[in-house]
Amino acid sequence: MDAVTPPVTVARQGKVGVIAIEFAPVNALSKAVRQGLLDAVRALEADPDVAALVISGGPGRFIAGADIREMSQPPDAPFLPDVVAAIDACAKPVVAAIAGAALGGGCEIALACDLRLGGPKALMGLTETRLGLIPGAGGTQRLPRLVGVAQAIALICEGRVLKAGDALALGLLDEVVEGDLLAEAIARAPGVTKRRLSELPVPAGDDGAEAAIARARKGAKGVPAIDEAIRVIRAVGEAEFATGLALERAAFLALRESAEAKALRHLFFAEREAGKVPGLESVAPRPLEAVAVIGAGTMGAGIAVALADAGFSVTLVERDGVAAAAGLQRVADLYARQVKSGRLTDAQGVERRARVTPTADWASLAAADLVVEAAFEDLAVKADIFRRLDAVAKPGAVLATNTSYLDLDTIAAVTSRPQDVVGLHFFAPANVMKLLEVVRPALAAPDVIATALALAKKMGKQPVVAGNCDGFIGNRIYALYRRHAEVLVEDGASPQEVDAALEAYGFAMGIFAVSDMSGLDIAYAMRKRRAAARDPAERYVAIADRLVEQGRLGRKTGAGWYAYDAVGDKSADPVVEALIAESRAEKAIVPRSFTPEQIQRRLLAVMANEGAKALAEGIALRASDIDLAFVHGYGFPRTRGGPMWAADQMGLRAVVTEVEAAHAAGGAGSEPAPLLLALARDGRSFADWRKA
Ligand code: NAD
Repeated sequence: MDAVTPPVTVARQGKVGVIAIEFAPVNALSKAVRQGLLDAVRALEADPDVAALVISGGPGRFIAGADIREMSQPPDAPFLPDVVAAIDACAKPVVAAIAGAALGGGCEIALACDLRLGGPKALMGLTETRLGLIPGAGGTQRLPRLVGVAQAIALICEGRVLKAGDALALGLLDEVVEGDLLAEAIARAPGVTKRRLSELPVPAGDDGAEAAIARARKGAKGVPAIDEAIRVIRAVGEAEFATGLALERAAFLALRESAEAKALRHLFFAEREAGKVPGLESVAPRPLEAVAVIGAGTMGAGIAVALADAGFSVTLVERDGVAAAAGLQRVADLYARQVKSGRLTDAQGVERRARVTPTADWASLAAADLVVEAAFEDLAVKADIFRRLDAVAKPGAVLATNTSYLDLDTIAAVTSRPQDVVGLHFFAPANVMKLLEVVRPALAAPDVIATALALAKKMGKQPVVAGNCDGFIGNRIYALYRRHAEVLVEDGASPQEVDAALEAYGFAMGIFAVSDMSGLDIAYAMRKRRAAARDPAERYVAIADRLVEQGRLGRKTGAGWYAYDAVGDKSADPVVEALIAESRAEKAIVPRSFTPEQIQRRLLAVMANEGAKALAEGIALRASDIDLAFVHGYGFPRTRGGPMWAADQMGLRAVVTEVEAAHAAGGAGSEPAPLLLALARDGRSFADWRKA
């Protein structure tokens, strides 16, 4: 047994050989783990004193999946299919003792065992499609033999993670053991008979497969892995097990190199890195128990729900009793919607809603460890609120604002404790959108930022830390993106063409449809506020202003960039076409045409260029944070990896050429970023850039 390598150990318990994996933090299937497992299975199979095998990941664990870093390198033996094949072929029974996550490759190992015992915290799932892959070690061939083709398509295409009870109900687990899982597995192993899923017939009847396929394709949006998964899973009905395995492996290896899988891997690492902020490594967050929200409008109500969902009791403060009652009604409506859609049970809805207490009494803020202000976007209103907050909040309370654009340093300066002030920029709808921009004013204490990051984690949000500037990371870049979409329209594209190009790129909705949905009045008010400060050398497209001035505020008024019918379906509107034509005529613009690709490249380049400026100024810590902001807050397609990643794939020299064209069209404010020019000149990329 000397051949077994370190992260995997073997111990004998009577006639049972126990294979234990110990590879922190989650027993990922690195090369050393694969090698250790293979050696251990072979050694125990050959040992005449061993009657049965148990595979254990230790307390609270099993095997959480592939080692994703290795996926960007050439495949290296032993391969996971070799390990799985050795377990499947083993003449002695093998029991999986699943105390924690058995996901991806970990689930495939479990499926090759003859008995799967789970602890109450077990998690099972073939989650590879989330990374743009399909299972590559038999998962697509064994799972349908266990649960049927329709169920396997649903589980694999959705990348669903099953808790112990659900895994038991579907048969992925044979039993859930409440007591000592490993002891039970060892006691049972010698009596287990071999039951190879690879030898089971495919369950008869394909009931529901077509419906499962239709559902999976609907959610697929640009993920080629979904079609591949469907194709390979369906092969179980037609081909021998070995043939199916070969099909699966070939598809897996091809997908591994796909642009989509690379982008999704990039985001996987970006998501883990975003919470790491230089200088905060050993800073402890402040304790958070009581939380409060000021302002119970669209955002305040959504934030209160998101906080209640995370387990907090929330005090929701409004201007007066009537507004407080209206705020509670918004909260109740948000929960009613979740109950109606089946996401929550009635009882859960009632219980969570009861966590939110509306009030007009500012004295109730004295108990809060954290206050999130979400009142009107107006500096005078916010300054007044922060002054009053300063007077009532307890020492050490974190004072946050959800402002979209306003200067955090000015807000902090009205208090006697600017070190406690931070931006917590949630996105609408705040209980759904994952992005939380944590905006760092100049004087913010490190533990306030650490507290914001800890809060994001507790709320299941994706934090991105931003410096204080107009629009922070997201809205700053979005403003340029929108400006150039309007320039394209004035120069000859129609709003429908721009939206169609963006939707073809992978956005769920084009930018003009999004503007109509959010309401055109907000950006209008902002443009008016800033009119005096605008650089006269910036090209100003006034079409959106004219829409607003005609009362076309978007969906809520039945018209904006589009016309909307009674059921909310949109169509091009001759009134808008006339406004656009007028605007072109005033500037003597001869409209030209743009292909979808030209529109996509122009807008992508503009975003990356503004992103480069934010990076150079230290507003964003890393390019991947900008990618996360757009993927989680602005509907940028995940399979494109975010604007900075996509710009790298386009090649920064080509991006510069596009930015130069955008500058020529857009004037001041659209100059090429020096950082972009330098990276392009040196043949480098945003991904490998770090601030000196
Ligand atoms: P809203 O108008 O829907 O709600 C504002 C609420 O604040 C109202 O209910 C109002 O009664 C209350 N309020 C105003 N002054 C108050 C005071 N002194 N004390 C207590 N309550 C007061 O606005 P909203 O869309 O929810 O936006 C709120 C904030 O969130 C703004 O700063 C906005 O920029 C920001 N934000 C909005 C969005 C969005 O998409 N709507 C997204 C991100 C951030």
